[in-house]
Amino acid sequence: MPEPSQTPASQPTPDNRPMPLAQARARIVDAIVPITRTQRLPLAEALHRVLARTVTACIDVPGSANSSMDGFGFAARDASADGVRLRLAGESFAGHPFDGGLQAGECVRIMTGAVVPAGVDTVVMQENTRDEGESVIISQVPEKGSNIRPAGEDIARGQIVMAAGQYLRPADIAVLASIGIAEVTVHERPRVAFFSTGDELRPVDGPIAPGEIYDSNRHGLAALLADLGMEGIDLGIVGDSREALEAAFAQAASADAVVTSGGVSVGAADFVLDVLAQHGTVDFWRVAIKPGKPLAFGRLGDARFFGLPGNPVSTAVTFLQLVRPALVRLAGGTPAHPTRFKLPTRTELDKRPGRENFLRARLDFSGDTPSVHAIDHQGSGVMRSMSAADCFIVLPAASEAVAAGEYVTVEPFAQTIWGRPPDDA
Ligand code: AMP
Ligand code: MG
Repeated sequence: MPEPSQTPASQPTPDNRPMPLAQARARIVDAIVPITRTQRLPLAEALHRVLARTVTACIDVPGSANSSMDGFGFAARDASADGVRLRLAGESFAGHPFDGGLQAGECVRIMTGAVVPAGVDTVVMQENTRDEGESVIISQVPEKGSNIRPAGEDIARGQIVMAAGQYLRPADIAVLASIGIAEVTVHERPRVAFFSTGDELRPVDGPIAPGEIYDSNRHGLAALLADLGMEGIDLGIVGDSREALEAAFAQAASADAVVTSGGVSVGAADFVLDVLAQHGTVDFWRVAIKPGKPLAFGRLGDARFFGLPGNPVSTAVTFLQLVRPALVRLAGGTPAHPTRFKLPTRTELDKRPGRENFLRARLDFSGDTPSVHAIDHQGSGVMRSMSAADCFIVLPAASEAVAAGEYVTVEPFAQTIWGRPPDDA
């Protein structure tokens, strides 16, 4: 028989009101200390990792002035009018530069990416010339300097190419490769322990009896963590007892962060807060967000602790709104400002003032006027509402019901999560 849970000792808001979401997010992110462990990785393994050292260019890119066109290179002073004829002195191909000198009245055949020989200051594209074998007629003389990419146009030697804290996307990998970086120093991936709590939960690979449910949250959390590039440590299903929780907490305490689902409310079988207060610290535990009001943030050993509510939609929403930015920071990155914009809602939206609401919704860009509409079933137990959605409609805490046609704030699921480091120009 579970004993009644007590209200935890540390209450940051004296009147016990849930904390506004923005404030909770700021407090959480501010409390996170990025992990300092780093590792060297070959560039080929560095995608989606966070750069731990600022990278400076030790070469120019491109290293030499080169042609941006297939055509002919010449000195502008030798071509004063359209129709001028220049003698062909040789060729410059990418990887095979012209090694002779250019005399007055001469030109070279030059390919895209080929080094511009000494004496050449202009390239005319092949389409504007007539090739007559020994000589070339330039039918349209371009402006001096045309079609030449100067050395260092992309990156100049000595320049900061990428700041520490940069989350490495495909383009970043290509930029690092362009300056001959074969290995990078990145932050180690944060180790995030996670488990589900609930006597009713069963693993997905077995049968369930009446009153039991499959532990879907643990799989959802594992996927969210994997998506973020975290190293998840799955501690399984933990029963609703102090002893079981204490054992799981002891295992979890050596991770960089701990994320749990369920048992964080005020029910008679909710022990997460009590056990956290006893073995760690509770910073705050209620946030004015719907779904997801009960949420414990604190510390367990060296790990930051996130006790998320058990209703599957609440688990997902609180993870996305509060845990994900924290883990981005823990990983050495910078959480981006949420990507938000306004669209008219096609459906009327129910809302009572009090908590910031995250309605699961779908974007519609098919017609002339983009719009958004809420998924029919908005219960916090209806996980299909998350699966069917591609965005949140975010209604501010003070907002009341919204009529169809009104503009609402939309936050797409596929958004910029990793911002740029603060010292990135
Ligand atoms: P709790 O936060 O523990 O009070 O749980 C709230 C609701 O979420 C209950 O209906 C639970 O059965 C359900 N729930 C809790 N944990 C999970 C889980 N891991 N997977 C699916 N549903 C869960
Ligand atoms: Mg429970």
